[in-house]
Amino acid sequence: MAGVFLATLYEYSPLFYISVVSLCFVVTAAMVLGWFGFDVPVILRSYDEQEPSLPAAEKQMVQVTNPFALELGSGSASVTDGVLVRPCCLESCVLSCFWGCEVSTLQGVLHAHQHGMMLSTHQHFQEALNLHYYYCQKFHISSEDRAERHAQIPADQGITDFGPLPRQRYPLVAVLTLEEAQERHVNDIVASVIVIHVPDDKYKLSARILFQYLLTSQGSMYELKPLFMSADSGGMSGSADSGHTFTPSDTQSEDQIPVMEEEDWSEGTEGRDCVVCQNAAVNRVLLPCRHACMCDSCVSFFQHCPICRAFVQESFALTQSNDCQ
Ligand SMILES: [Zn+2]
Ligand SMILES: [Zn+2]
Repeated sequence: MAGVFLATLYEYSPLFYISVVSLCFVVTAAMVLGWFGFDVPVILRSYDEQEPSLPAAEKQMVQVTNPFALELGSGSASVTDGVLVRPCCLESCVLSCFWGCEVSTLQGVLHAHQHGMMLSTHQHFQEALNLHYYYCQKFHISSEDRAERHAQIPADQGITDFGPLPRQRYPLVAVLTLEEAQERHVNDIVASVIVIHVPDDKYKLSARILFQYLLTSQGSMYELKPLFMSADSGGMSGSADSGHTFTPSDTQSEDQIPVMEEEDWSEGTEGRDCVVCQNAAVNRVLLPCRHACMCDSCVSFFQHCPICRAFVQESFALTQSNDCQ
């Protein structure tokens, strides 16, 4: 049928016949390519850098107040002489110091908290750790109390070190819990777990906070991490010793990258200039590198952190600006 039609067509006009056959071939080829998933327009599309890039995702935030803070006190620290810790709490709370707490037990307890076992009081922690520690001390801290507390294992326990590396026990786990277990909202922070390294004869690394976790009444756990501020933030970062200082390595970059010595920057009130536009206050923390160096408007133009060149996965605001709902 089609053959007869084509033969008639060829007799009528060879040129028209050739064009019809060619057209059929092109249409068939296009259909076959489409059928097998060759997306011709995609292949032809160019991926040059002129294409507008998607801005990094903005993280949705919930504002919560952390009533707990703890820093290491002045003076030397060791397992035999003890360590000074300075709690600073917004409410009356209890500081529990668990010396030589087993790593696996603590991790198990924190895991259990996230799966329904409530940890909000000193007793909860003591029962959950179930004597998988050497010694426990308990301090009552009132809300205005900023005094240093001396945590120490009594000499009669006979503990002078926690053995060779790698260790099965954390030297000191400080737990801050609220004194009064009253009704709490789901996002309220009910406990803070601070893992502290204390030097001993076997491992002389100076005393420092290794990890800080916050536990909410809902059963979530958050790890507190320092922010890297480009300047003094007026206490917003919450970690005084985390401020990085940056110095330009050569003279060319001096125009783009300001010298971010903390002392120089903290003097003026306009010390939080965005490193990009130099015109607005720094208000964005980039994740995962945690550099706070850009204002709200500049952050949308960057896929890489201007300080460390890390890819920006998301960002969050330090303070709520007017255009945020
Ligand atoms: Zn800016
Ligand atoms: Zn960075």
